Amino acid sequence: MTGKQTQQTNYDVVIAGGGLVGIALALAVSRLDLKIAVIEAQATDVFPDSRPERVIALSHGSRSYLEELGVWHDIADSGVAPIHEVHICEPGNRGEVGMHQNEADIEALGYVVSNAQILRALYAALPESVDVFAPAQLQALDETPESMFVHVSQDKNISQGKNESILRCRLLIGADGTMSKVRRLRGIGSRGWDHNRFGLVASVQPNKPHRNVAHECFCADGPLAFLPLDESRYSIVWTLAPREASRIIALDDSDFLHELERAAGEMMKPHFGGFSTVGPRAMFPFEYRVCERFTAARTVLIGNAAHTMHPVAGQGLNLGLRDVAVLAAAIRRAVDGGRNIAAPLVLEEYAQQRCGDTTAVSTFTEGLNAVFCSDLLPLKLVRGAGLSGMQHLPSLRRWLLRRAAGVAQRTALGGVA
Ligand SMILES: Cc1cc2nc3c(=O)[nH]c(=O)nc-3n(C[C@H](O)[C@H](O)[C@H](O)COP(=O)(O)OP(=O)(O)OC[C@H]3O[C@@H](n4cnc5c(N)ncnc54)[C@H](O)[C@@H]3O)c2cc1C
Repeated sequence: MTGKQTQQTNYDVVIAGGGLVGIALALAVSRLDLKIAVIEAQATDVFPDSRPERVIALSHGSRSYLEELGVWHDIADSGVAPIHEVHICEPGNRGEVGMHQNEADIEALGYVVSNAQILRALYAALPESVDVFAPAQLQALDETPESMFVHVSQDKNISQGKNESILRCRLLIGADGTMSKVRRLRGIGSRGWDHNRFGLVASVQPNKPHRNVAHECFCADGPLAFLPLDESRYSIVWTLAPREASRIIALDDSDFLHELERAAGEMMKPHFGGFSTVGPRAMFPFEYRVCERFTAARTVLIGNAAHTMHPVAGQGLNLGLRDVAVLAAAIRRAVDGGRNIAAPLVLEEYAQQRCGDTTAVSTFTEGLNAVFCSDLLPLKLVRGAGLSGMQHLPSLRRWLLRRAAGVAQRTALGGVA
């Protein structure tokens, strides 16, 4: 039998988007006495394994938050590479700087984990009381003064046809990524630009041990990052102009590794001693996009739906997890105080707290990218001098390191989980 069936169910919170940020929020609020649904466009039983190898450098603050959510042990069990040292250079320029974890008095400057590992751990920890609609698409929204009606289409098997569900909720969370449909349907504007660059990701095997050192080389098209992955491999994020990205991704393994060594330059040769193998490759477009408001009536944006930035400083997910921590705390306070979780004051509290952090991180990230990707001679001189000078400014280095590791932000958040 084929046909269209419509069901309506009531929820307190509906989260559109079950990516890293949406599912972290679902877990964070699942301990409260609330009825929660997640709508995810991809099949959650297969997607963590089917994505190409993509990794995240988690900050110290994000690790602490994942510990509070109770999933860090599970993530760590499947393999995490701590970053003990970061080395920044510009091939062909004298300036270079190295920073060590000891300077910031922290256990590690960051933790490299595959996206799949984090997703798997978050989904596994989700209690059965949370309804996950997947693969399913948020299609449309209706509202009354009290409620939001979320129209969801779900492809069943052919014999059952296409199901439409209507989820009635008090609070809708847009965690549906850069092109957020929630943001568009709720009339929230965004500003930003396409970087006209792709990030080519792959894992490579160096001939020398990586000693848990991360490298960031600022090349002509943008940064080329080497993140220590498991015992011996690096995960690379290689910023390339579109045509160059299409050419390089199609090269055979040996030509690919040759181009990689050439891009990293002579200065990096002693660190890697060449590369022997490369794994599967994938490309991601880089975009900068920030929402004009974090909230609308009964609606909140989190993660990439609220802010997408260049991964040069590895801040996107770290920022998204801080959205989750602040929003979960605001919802918990409303529940504890017997208040409406979608009251304008609750949403405003979240928006106010997230505005400053988002502006600071996006300004820093986009500024860093602009300075290091410019061909203008004055900027080239400034960055050469800046890298050499930073080598001799311990207090600036310590401040930068603690900020990048998320220690400062975590202290500012307090115990919010
Ligand atoms: C190459 C690269 C390297 C990066 N490295 C780092 C790093 O080192 N550190 C760091 O902190 N960040 C990093 N980032 C950024 C980080 O990956 C993102 O900030 C983070 O994954 C965003 O998660 P999200 O859940 O907000 O969005 P997404 O991961 O985009 O998830 C959105 C989800 O919503 C679903 N969806 C979309 N539309 C609908 C719909 N209509 N209905 C239902 N579901 C829908 C999608 O299927 C998706 O699963 C990197 C990004 C890139 C591209």
